[in-house]
Amino acid sequence: MCGIVGYVGHRDATDILLEGLRRLEYRGYDSSGIAIQNEDGVLVRKKVGRVSELAALVNMKPVSGSIGIGHTRWATHGGITDENSHPHLGGNGEVVVVHNGVIENYSLLKEKLTALGFVFRSSTDTEVVAHLIAHHLEEQIRLGAD
Ligand code: GLU
Repeated sequence: MCGIVGYVGHRDATDILLEGLRRLEYRGYDSSGIAIQNEDGVLVRKKVGRVSELAALVNMKPVSGSIGIGHTRWATHGGITDENSHPHLGGNGEVVVVHNGVIENYSLLKEKLTALGFVFRSSTDTEVVAHLIAHHLEEQIRLGAD
């Protein structure tokens, strides 16, 4: 089983998310990751293996901000790789998603989104959700602009 943790507040989210992921380790997982939003945009760090390996990566490539999400993955669709670890970006990175579970109709959605020009960076089912939301946001913005 996998886990999700999120933080919005006044403190730095990175340590809070890493601690949250450590507390979820007992559930079992194969990889973990975090996304942090700050004035530069959304920064993602993800890694196969223990949360301690993610923490080491964050140490090497620090991120800070006061809004973030974190995930421990139990792979169901797509191999256990850094690319397939969550979070996943949708569109050009305007959407960031973590997800537990399975998207039953992901291959149909992936086909449609690929035909619309969305580029997939992983082989997970989850990534379709990120692009699908990005697609509908785009539509809403376009409709609002008319
Ligand atoms: N189906 C998703 C994946 O394989 C989520 C798995 C999970 O619940 O961690 O990435």
